[in-house]
Amino acid sequence: MAERHQAPRGTRDLLPGEIERWQWVEARAREVLDRYGYREIRTPIFEDYDLFARSSGEASDVVQKEMYRFKDLGDRDLALRPEGTAGVCRAYLQHGMAQQGRIHRLWYMGPMFRYGRPQKGRYRQFRQVGAEIIGTAAPGADVEMIALFVDLFDAWGFRDLTVALNSLGTPETRRAYGERLRQWLAPVRAKLGADAQQRLETNPLRVLDTKSPEERALFEDPALGTMPKLLDVLDPESRDHFEAVRAGLTALGIAHETDHGLVRGLDYYTRTAFEVHDRSLGAQSALGGGGRYDGLIEALGGSPTPGVGFSIGLDRVLLVLEARGVAPAAHAGGIYLAAMEGTRTLAPMLARALRQVYTVDLDLEARGLNAQMKAADKSGARVVILLGEEEWQRGEVLVKELATGAQQAVTLEGLVEALDRLLGPAPVSDEAETR
Ligand code: AMP
Repeated sequence: MAERHQAPRGTRDLLPGEIERWQWVEARAREVLDRYGYREIRTPIFEDYDLFARSSGEASDVVQKEMYRFKDLGDRDLALRPEGTAGVCRAYLQHGMAQQGRIHRLWYMGPMFRYGRPQKGRYRQFRQVGAEIIGTAAPGADVEMIALFVDLFDAWGFRDLTVALNSLGTPETRRAYGERLRQWLAPVRAKLGADAQQRLETNPLRVLDTKSPEERALFEDPALGTMPKLLDVLDPESRDHFEAVRAGLTALGIAHETDHGLVRGLDYYTRTAFEVHDRSLGAQSALGGGGRYDGLIEALGGSPTPGVGFSIGLDRVLLVLEARGVAPAAHAGGIYLAAMEGTRTLAPMLARALRQVYTVDLDLEARGLNAQMKAADKSGARVVILLGEEEWQRGEVLVKELATGAQQAVTLEGLVEALDRLLGPAPVSDEAETR
């Protein structure tokens, strides 16, 4: 027998049973994004490798170690997208969106790809929802972004989230801060890993990004004294911006706290950076994060255009929801259409007509009535419509409510009314409930 294939390492199949949860999470997200007036954008899942190298930074881990890079048959250098912002900014430039309006509020949802070591909450294909505001540097945009970010979590039933917040200032303030970090870490320099020592020279902020517990412990070394803070070296404009963002969040009642260790090492990340974590996830605790990228569009060849955005990892959102037992309500069962020898050919026609409104299941294999009734029970249907031969002659069908066993003959004209009474006129609902 041929060897069976497995889904590639780090990828997962989402089967019926699990997919309903995903659909629910995605539907709630779309509703919130709609109410905020954001417009969806779909960009390709692969782009020129160089786009990601430029936007994520040639030296970043994502580009150095985690990129799904490949050559196509035309020898193009491509990569599966590791994140969404680069593609959105590329599309913004390619389609001259700046000419179609000054401010664009956009969202995207879809799979991202990173060649990391798979573990709980970290996959090689994972799904993100994200949003961007392109075209304004106003602190109000950062506040709206964070409010939207929090309201998405709220719609999924997360409560009591605290947003971790920092300001990265400008490239100049970060250079000054990098110098301070270098001095601060000098006493433990030799104890840092090779990567971190290298970064200390090239991009000291990224040393703080380390996931290594040993290195994190070094930062706590009493010999070092307290870590220098970015906020202490902020330029006055960035400081005002940060204060305005904090005041805006406070006015909206959004819980936030400053996290001095929250950094992004790349030059086009500016000012606001934010994240939320859920500690129950262990090592991969970041549920989502975002920030300002006022230098990015220029770095991609556009004229200087400010932007701010975030992305949320849906796989991790789902992990937390599962652990908390939040589940979409089971689909309210529909109709099972059972037929007899003499009415069998009618069944597909009636089913097709009823499927305009209801969820309808039926037998495809010309099985006997007993087998069909068993199948009806198993299918979770609430109502069986039996196309009895004699009833059909009279222009009637039998309608049986499975929960009670109550059965009645109904004329074809009266069928919709009878079904509405038993099933309710509305199509299946996908409201969630907390168990
Ligand atoms: P980032 O672009 O690295 O800030 O990631 C944004 C969010 O995507 C993170 O907060 C995670 O929730 C999620 N995420 C990132 N990488 C992965 C991964 N390999 N597997 C699952 N989720 C991920």
